[in-house]
Amino acid sequence: MTTPVVGIDIGGTKTAAALVDRAGRVLERREAPTPARSGPEAVLDAAARLATDLLGATAGPVGVGTAGTVDPATGGIRYATDSLPGWTGTPVADALAARLGRGVRVTNDVNAAALGECWAGAGRDRAHVLLVAVGTGLGGAVVRNGRVEAGARGAAGEVGHLPAPGAERLRCGCGRYGHLEAIASGSGLAAAYRIETGARVSGRTVADRATAGDEVARRVVERAGSALGAALAGLVALLDPDAVLVAGGAAGALLPAASGAYSAEVPAGWADVALLPATLGADAVVVGAARLAIDEHDIERSTG
Ligand SMILES: [Zn+2]
Repeated sequence: MTTPVVGIDIGGTKTAAALVDRAGRVLERREAPTPARSGPEAVLDAAARLATDLLGATAGPVGVGTAGTVDPATGGIRYATDSLPGWTGTPVADALAARLGRGVRVTNDVNAAALGECWAGAGRDRAHVLLVAVGTGLGGAVVRNGRVEAGARGAAGEVGHLPAPGAERLRCGCGRYGHLEAIASGSGLAAAYRIETGARVSGRTVADRATAGDEVARRVVERAGSALGAALAGLVALLDPDAVLVAGGAAGALLPAASGAYSAEVPAGWADVALLPATLGADAVVVGAARLAIDEHDIERSTG
């Protein structure tokens, strides 16, 4: 099969879709706000509209990367946060397949980003990759032999909930204290800066102030990056990847400190495992979702 496929990225604020060719290149894009407050049916309708616009007369499957934990057996949502109200329990694969009249494969958005980077980005030609995505929160995904390791409940690779020294006073998105996400994420930067200064600003603002020379902001960013780098150095010993990729909106801010801590902490046997910035940016999820659709489709064809 050589026709392009469609990948969809369903996030809490926007939904994107792209027509992707068999080399992982984006041919066309569509984007719309996610009608999250209108409920799951509206979110699915919006995603289906974007995909339909790109599918035209092409046959073939569709892939989806979505916020939330995806049940690998059903393509439904096991758990999602309030960024998509009511999303938990939504049978995304079946509901979109009914709307689009074709097979739909669904995975978590960070898993999709990892597939995308391994296909056409910084992880190209690498079979084993650990990817972390540092945005408002901190997500992760493990690729083994070119495929995402889903785990028993679709949640393998969630590095954000590892214990992290220095995060003891910071509350994680999961509700507990002391986790890596609570320090090494946009919300973690904001919380740590607020504790030290009383100022309520976004993580992006903290990063910008650090760049501009604000001493407190610089220290907060340094601590966050160091915590991330040290955790990743330990994880390479567990996973033995070919490379570790850092994606997401806060990656640029945290990478300098993360690289320093990573190099200092990584055990000698894995000193050659590079810590690299991801390169696909906002396209990673749609490209990876397209890859998922191709992989599943080709497997079905070869076994069926
Ligand atoms: Zn947590």
